[in-house]
Amino acid sequence: MSTAASAKLNKVALVTGSSSGIGLGIARQLAAAGYDLMLHGLMDVTEGQAMAASFAEQHQVRSSFSDADLRDPTAVKALVEQCIEELGSVDILVNNAGIQHTERLEDFPEQKWHDIIAINLNSAFFAMQAAIPAMRERGWGRIINIASVHGLVASAQKSAYCAAKHGVVGLTKVAALENADAGITVNAICPGWVETDLVKPQIQAIADQQSVSYEQARAELVGQKQAMTSMTQPAMLGALAVFLCSDDAATMTGTALPVDGAWTSQ
Ligand code: NAD
Repeated sequence: MSTAASAKLNKVALVTGSSSGIGLGIARQLAAAGYDLMLHGLMDVTEGQAMAASFAEQHQVRSSFSDADLRDPTAVKALVEQCIEELGSVDILVNNAGIQHTERLEDFPEQKWHDIIAINLNSAFFAMQAAIPAMRERGWGRIINIASVHGLVASAQKSAYCAAKHGVVGLTKVAALENADAGITVNAICPGWVETDLVKPQIQAIADQQSVSYEQARAELVGQKQAMTSMTQPAMLGALAVFLCSDDAATMTGTALPVDGAWTSQ
C-alpha cells in the first residue's frame, strides 16, 4: 500500500481493470476527487505497485494494487478482501474489467465464451456479493457496473459479449432493488465506442481488410453505429462515475446510462 497523505474523503474505491482504458480513466477521476484507490488489472505486480505509488503521490490519497485474475471467483472475493485489509473498506465498487472477442456464434471458441462470461459478468456478481454486506452495515455504498451499449442492443459477432453485458444490466437492476433500503446505489454505464486497447484491434482489423489508414477505419467503425462520430474518452466516463458517487446522485439507482453518441437512439 502507498500512503502519501491521509484520505481526503475517507472512502475507498475499488476499480477492477484499472490498469488501462476506461478503468484507468475512472480511477484517475476518483483519485482526483479524493477517494482512496484500489487499482487492479493484469499487469506486472511491480509496475502495478509503482502505479499505485504514483496515484498516491499525485492525488494525495492512499492506493494499493492487485493483479487478481477475475476468471476465478475465489480471486474476485480475495480482491475485495485485500482492499478491505489494506485500505479499510470497499465503499465504491466499479466493476469494469472486461474482454472482447468477435466471431460468428457457430464458430465462437468455447473457451472465449467461458472467459467473457466469467470476466464481464460473473466477476461483477462475485465482487458485489463480497462487498455489499459491509456497505449495508455502514448504510452507504456506490456500485457502478461498466456494461456497454451491448447491454441494451446487439451487434453481430458479439454473442458472448452481448450476453454478458445484457446480464450486467439485469444484475444491476436486481442489486439496486435489493439495496435501496441501505443507502446503496447500483448503476450501469453503457458506453458506445471508447478508444482503448479493447477496441483498437477491431479498428486495425478494418484497416487491414480494406487497406485504409487507422484513422479512416476508426471513422468508419464509429460511424456504422453512432450518430456522433467522435469516440468517448475514458475521462468522460470517470467524470460520470464521480457524479454517481456524489450525494447529488443519492436517489439515482437501477439505471443503465448510455454514453454512446446516440447509438441507441436509433
Ligand atoms: P482495456 O482492454 O483497456 O481494459 C480491460 C481491463 O480489464 C484491463 O485492466 C485488464 O487488465 C482487465 N482484465 C482483462 N482480463 C482480465 C482478467 N482475466 N482478470 C482481471 N482483469 C482482467 O478495455 P476497456 O475498453 O477499457 O474496457 C473496460 C470495460 O469497458 C470493459 O468491461 C468493456 O467491456 C467496457 N466497454 C468498453 C467499450 C469500448 O469501446 N472500449 C465500450 C463499452 C464498454
